[in-house]
Amino acid sequence: MMSPMKYNRLSVAVMFAGFVLWVIGITCIHSESMAAVFMAGTIVCVIAGVVIHAKYARCPECGKHLTRIWGNECPHCGSAIEQLQDVNK
Ligand SMILES: [Zn+2]
Repeated sequence: MMSPMKYNRLSVAVMFAGFVLWVIGITCIHSESMAAVFMAGTIVCVIAGVVIHAKYARCPECGKHLTRIWGNECPHCGSAIEQLQDVNK
């Protein structure tokens, strides 16, 4: 099982991938049907990113959302997310 901080970073990465798809779709794709495929991919990535963040990117100590992707501590209560996960293994 991945730690909440890894899910947090994954959700941001997935949303960023969606953003990249959107940029490619509006800049490089000149066929309307292909542009629609890229737009659908953008929507799927953004929804998946939001769902991953909402479901898994929570502090195991205080239950709040991890609103930042840097560092290994909870920004709310200071718990070490990655270390906590290692101890539980
Ligand atoms: Zn916390």
